[in-house]
Amino acid sequence: MLATKKYQFWFCTGSQDLYGDECLAHVAEHSRIIVEELNKSGNLPFEVVLKPTLITNELIRRTFNEANMDETCAGVITWMHTFSPAKSWILGLQEYRKPLLHLHTQFNREIPYDTIDMDFMNENQSAHGDREYGHIFSRLRMERKVVAGYWADEAVQKEIASWMRTAVGVIESSHIRVMRVADNMRNVAVTEGDKVEAQIQFGWEVDAYPVNEIAEAVAAVSQSDVNALTDEYYATYQILTEGRDAAEFRRHVEVQAAIEIGFERFLEEKNYQAIVTHFGDLGALKQLPGLAIQRLMQKGYGFGAEGDWKTAAMVRLMKIMTGGMKDAKGTSFMEDYTYNLVPGKEGILQAHMLEVCPTIADGPISIKVQPLSMGDREDPARLVFTAKEGPAIATSLVDLGNRFRLIINNVDCKKTEKPMPKLPVATAFWTPQPNLKTGTEAWILAGGAHHTAFSYDLTAEQMGDWADAMGIEAVYIDQDTTIRQLKNELRWNSVAYRK
Ligand code: MN
Repeated sequence: MLATKKYQFWFCTGSQDLYGDECLAHVAEHSRIIVEELNKSGNLPFEVVLKPTLITNELIRRTFNEANMDETCAGVITWMHTFSPAKSWILGLQEYRKPLLHLHTQFNREIPYDTIDMDFMNENQSAHGDREYGHIFSRLRMERKVVAGYWADEAVQKEIASWMRTAVGVIESSHIRVMRVADNMRNVAVTEGDKVEAQIQFGWEVDAYPVNEIAEAVAAVSQSDVNALTDEYYATYQILTEGRDAAEFRRHVEVQAAIEIGFERFLEEKNYQAIVTHFGDLGALKQLPGLAIQRLMQKGYGFGAEGDWKTAAMVRLMKIMTGGMKDAKGTSFMEDYTYNLVPGKEGILQAHMLEVCPTIADGPISIKVQPLSMGDREDPARLVFTAKEGPAIATSLVDLGNRFRLIINNVDCKKTEKPMPKLPVATAFWTPQPNLKTGTEAWILAGGAHHTAFSYDLTAEQMGDWADAMGIEAVYIDQDTTIRQLKNELRWNSVAYRK
C-alpha cells in the first residue's frame, strides 16, 4: 500500500557555448562523475539521472517540458558548472511545474593553487554562474530549494536526500484521495475546512460515502478470512484478556479483523489512500474501528478521527514522504490529551480513543478489549503500546477561512515516568520545543489543532519546504521560538499570505 513509484530525479548542468568544445566536454564529464558518485553513495533514496548539458534556450525549455511530462521524474536538480546567462532559462522555468533543487556546488573541492589559470577559472565558476542563475528564480518569484556545499560530502548528499522526499511529497500530494465515511463531529471547528480549496491547493480529493456502504463491505467478509487474520493477530501481538472470557474476547477481536479486511477492500476498490471515521456515526458497524484502523495506518493509509480529513491526508502524505526509509521510527495520527505539569518533567500525554499507528511502538504490542466510554457500540479491540523516545515533529494543518496554515512543532519524545496499567490505549509522551509553556502558548496562538500528523522520520524543514511548494504558510515552533517573535510572524504572515 505504501509503495510509491520508483521516482527519478534529473540532473541538469547549465553552461553555454562561449568556452569551446573542450570545456563543454569537461563539464559533461564532471557532471557524469557527480551523478555516478551520488547514485553510488547509498545516501539518496531515489536515482539521479544525468541529462545533456543545458546550453541553449531551446534545449532548456525542451528539457523542462520533458520533465513535466515524464511520470517518473519527481524533480530536477540543477547546477551551473560555468556561467550560463539566466535569460536563457526564463521560458523553461516558467513552464516547469515540478520541484527544483538548485545545488550550489563545484566539481573540485580545492583551488589548484599551483596550476590555476584563466581557463580553469572559466570552466569552474559556479560561484559566479549559480548567482546569475539564482537571481532569475528570485526575479520570477519561483519556489526552489537551494543547497550549498561540496557534492561529495555526506552532509550535502543527505540534504539532497531530504529534499527528494519533500519533492515526492509534492508530486504525490495530488494523488491523495480521502474517503469520509462520516461527517465531521458536530460543532467541532478545527477538524472542519474547505475541501474545494484543499483540492485546489494540495490536489487532494475528499469524498463522502454513507457509512453503511462500507459496513456492507465489512459484513461481506467471509468467516474464514476473519479467522485467518485473527490468527495472525494472535500470533503477532500479546493478548491481554484482563479477566475477560477468552472466547468472548476473541469474538471482539474478530470484529476488528472483519473491519480491517472490509475497509481495505473497499478503499482499494474505490482507490482511496486515507480514511476518516467518527465514533458517533457508525451505522451497522458493531465497534468503532480501532485495531483495524491501527493496522491500516501501519500499511500506509492516512487516518483522521471524528471526520478530520485534513489530518488524514497529512498522515498519508507523511507516510509517503517516509516510504522505504531505513530504520524508520514511525508516523501516526495523534492527539494532545493530558498534561504533566510537574516542574522539570513537563510534557503532553498523546493518545487517541484507539487509533494510534503501531509504527511508532517501542517494545511489545498488546491487544486489549475495553469499553470506549463514548458512543453506543460494543467494547472495541485495540492495540496498546508506548511510543519511542527521541526527536520528532507534530504538524497541524488548519483552515483559517481564507487560506491554510501548517504548524510544525519540534517535540522531544520521552518515556512517561511510570507505566499506566489502567490506560487501555497506545500513548506517546513529549515535551514540545522550546519548552511546554512557550511551545503550547505558541501552538494555541497559531491556531493549531488537538489532532496532529506526527513523525519521527521527517524534519520541520522538509514539511516547511512542502508548505512553501504548496504556496501556504508554514509556522515553525522550535528552540528558537519566542512568543513576541511568533506573534509578529503571524501578524506579518496574515498580510503576506492574504488572498
Ligand atoms: Mn480526536
